[in-house]
Amino acid sequence: MTLNPIRPWRNVMRRKSRQIMVGRVPIGGDAPISVQTMTNTDSADVKATLAQVIAAANAGADIVRISTPDQAATQALREIVRESPVPIVADIHFHHRRAIEAAEAGAACLRINPGNIGDAQRVREVVKAARDNGCSIRIGVNAGSLERHLLEKYGEPCPEAMVESGLDHIKLLQDNDFHEFKISVKASDVFLAAAAYQQLAEVTDAPIHLGITEAGGLRTGTVKSAVGLGNLLWAGIGDTIRVSLSADPVEEVKVGFEILKALGLRTRGVQIISCPSCARQGFDVIKTVEALEQRLEHVRTPISLSIIGCVVNGPGEALLTDVGFTGGGAGSGMVYLAGKQAHKLGNAEMIDEIVKLVEARAALIDAEKP
Ligand code: SF4
Repeated sequence: MTLNPIRPWRNVMRRKSRQIMVGRVPIGGDAPISVQTMTNTDSADVKATLAQVIAAANAGADIVRISTPDQAATQALREIVRESPVPIVADIHFHHRRAIEAAEAGAACLRINPGNIGDAQRVREVVKAARDNGCSIRIGVNAGSLERHLLEKYGEPCPEAMVESGLDHIKLLQDNDFHEFKISVKASDVFLAAAAYQQLAEVTDAPIHLGITEAGGLRTGTVKSAVGLGNLLWAGIGDTIRVSLSADPVEEVKVGFEILKALGLRTRGVQIISCPSCARQGFDVIKTVEALEQRLEHVRTPISLSIIGCVVNGPGEALLTDVGFTGGGAGSGMVYLAGKQAHKLGNAEMIDEIVKLVEARAALIDAEKP
């Protein structure tokens, strides 16, 4: 799928994967690349966790993951799932009982590595619980927690070891005739993660969950994720993404969407094209963009807005955007609508007026939708 049908040089050819479901969200095939995040509250605290799930969903998250390390967490999950506007993935390490409880509590997907939960009987029980409850599974290989025998075989975490680990886990599910799974091979090192994902994409048709794990704080993690995930997505690899930041989950969702928007793979809300500003600016570009970002956060309709300081680049950018404003000096600038020059606008009124224009244009775009 691409959102760039007219300009072929913007096309991203997505790798063909089979499709699975995480609740009502399709993953893989020609489904839109979904955005995920993870809560960081105490999972047993229904109120706090649900509040975070809802905030993430309002920011655009398609799916939210919750750690369920103990029974209190899997019990709370039932209530959270019931109230959540998006499907919930239960994150489980080692405990096969927690996996069964989470599936029974209504998790749409289990993030669990079947090779790490004990003998074949336990794997059978978890697969049965997943199947009985319409739950898919994500195999989550992580460079930091590779199996000892693979570390001994390969000497250190490397792409080959990560892919072999993934294929071992896949085999356990396939041996149980279970095929509703997706897989990730995450690393905090961008090169390692990218190489592992590239190799993985060659050897399975399972949908791929992308992530650069433990990427860092808001700024560092955003850049690292944009480089790592951006590179893979551009090459057509990846069916669902999670940006890992030491920051509010809402930030992870926003960054995930921005990465997809930059590649034309998803659209949502207002995409602001703005210049860095310089001595030629006809108004304070930086403050205006900051204010507009905040005032237009509620708009979900995909719409583009150019805010350009002067006529050097303003009219050209305005040609390509739904709404445009170009500074012209003498306390006012020019408004463009759908690429056409519309009317003059005073700098003092510009923020309120642009908000109104964008809202009106978004309503028009929504009304024209089939
Ligand atoms: S568009 Fe005009 S104001 Fe903005 S950076 Fe370029 S020259 Fe400066």
